[in-house]
Amino acid sequence: MASYNGCVNGGGDGFKIPEIQFTKLFIDGNFVDSVSGKTFETRDPRNKEVIARVAEGSKEDIDLAVMAARKSFDHGKWPRMSGYERGRVMMKFAKLIEDHIDELAVIDSLNCGKLLRFTKENEIPAGVHILQFYAGAADKIHGDTLKLSGEFHGYTLKEPIGVVGHIIPWNFPTPLLFLKVSPSLAAGCTMVVKPAEQTPLSALYYAHLAKLAGIPDGVINVVTGFGATAGAALCSHMDVDKISFTGSTAVGRLVMEAAAKSNLKHVTLELGGKSPVIVFDDADVDMAVSMAHNATFFNKGEFCASGSRIYVQEKIYDEFLKKSVELAKNTVIGDPFDPEVQQGPQIDKKQFDKILGYIEYGKNEGATLLTGGKSYGNTGYYIEPTIFTDVQENMKIAQDEIFGPVMALMKFKTIEEAIEKANATSYGLVAGIITKDLNIANRVSRSVRAGTIWINCYSVLDPSCPFGGYKMSGFGKCQGMKALDEYLQVKSVITPIYSSPWL
Ligand code: NAD
Repeated sequence: MASYNGCVNGGGDGFKIPEIQFTKLFIDGNFVDSVSGKTFETRDPRNKEVIARVAEGSKEDIDLAVMAARKSFDHGKWPRMSGYERGRVMMKFAKLIEDHIDELAVIDSLNCGKLLRFTKENEIPAGVHILQFYAGAADKIHGDTLKLSGEFHGYTLKEPIGVVGHIIPWNFPTPLLFLKVSPSLAAGCTMVVKPAEQTPLSALYYAHLAKLAGIPDGVINVVTGFGATAGAALCSHMDVDKISFTGSTAVGRLVMEAAAKSNLKHVTLELGGKSPVIVFDDADVDMAVSMAHNATFFNKGEFCASGSRIYVQEKIYDEFLKKSVELAKNTVIGDPFDPEVQQGPQIDKKQFDKILGYIEYGKNEGATLLTGGKSYGNTGYYIEPTIFTDVQENMKIAQDEIFGPVMALMKFKTIEEAIEKANATSYGLVAGIITKDLNIANRVSRSVRAGTIWINCYSVLDPSCPFGGYKMSGFGKCQGMKALDEYLQVKSVITPIYSSPWL
């Protein structure tokens, strides 16, 4: 059985729950109350207790934050500094994060139900790594020199796109924030960040560290609040030049609509997924089971790239199924601050209810529940790792992004069938392939329509490697030098080589 590891209300060694210092909006270099004076609760998903009350920004606060970012873009020094100087300040920012890593890891774990060892050893360091990568890129932004016909020559300038609105989901509060903030800082943009309402705390802490590092006032503004108010106001603001959005496909559509109806601002969309992992007969079954388990259950399934559709070739299917169920049953569920625990609580009641609702759909649509299928404990939002088999492509659990610890196991016979099934969703974020056969790996990786393909590995993310969706998983890239281009625009300058024919 999945084991429940007590101490849900805190405890564990080696960490201290810090006093929450930053709960106000950060606008033009100052922490301020919202114009309305309203606040909202942010809760601990382990026990549903209130961690802090945070300023609730709305349209008026977005107006003030955009005004600060606009002033700082049009007249401030950040866009006018050399890339080298911007990079130096960003490196200092990264160092300050490293100096506060223990506190930041506890904040994200507390706010999001994440394993503390993971926030500490992986997520906060990933934020630092991303910031450092783009700090190093800031002085490598350059255009082209062009010999034009008719004795003219031209050159291109890559200029910062302007004021950017960054909208962030709750599932990776630190890495996702830095995937947006870092390339836009390097490009010389100024910005308004709208963190998810579920996880506002670390973003405010980062605003404080950015100021300490010397990032000028007005360059980074953080407005905490809800999507339908603060988020929507940012997307329809006439003085915002770009929205970089990460979140659900449904809200991504609203973001595009708002951009179209306002000033035709640029939009990047990093959206949902329903990613396949395809396991071929020649795979090492133990390795494949462990990889598929992590693909589905990593971060309690609250992972955009979650590999939740597992296609297994027929010869190894039965063995794979048996071992997958064993592994799921042995998962240690419990307090994410306990080092023995492997799976913490889902983020909130809405997500918890949504996942349990999908499990009911699965049962009602005729899939066979092999393990899990219900909540765990009675204090927080815990759900057992769940595996369904006999899943058909047209079932909701095979089509919709569940964003929880639910695996759909499916069998296939031929490589053609695997490719067809893998492509049979509206999403195209990532795909996993497990095989020792190079020809199969090559063929499938070219045939599956997804932005990232992991062969004999999964969830390998690196700041230098572009990441972003195909199909309804969005467009535009985060990570890599491609992400820098998302925050730059190209200006062409043309001049006669000799004397001007018009002078
Ligand atoms: P969500 O779309 O509900 O919310 C994301 C953000 O959008 C939040 O900050 C929210 O306040 C804001 N928002 C909500 N309504 C808005 C509106 N009308 N206008 C502007 N902003 C609005 O998503 P979520 O539940 O927070 O996150 C989970 C989703 O994010 C999943 O679909 C997941 O796949 C996706 N995601 C994608 C990636 C990726 O890289 N492709 C990464 C992480 C998460």
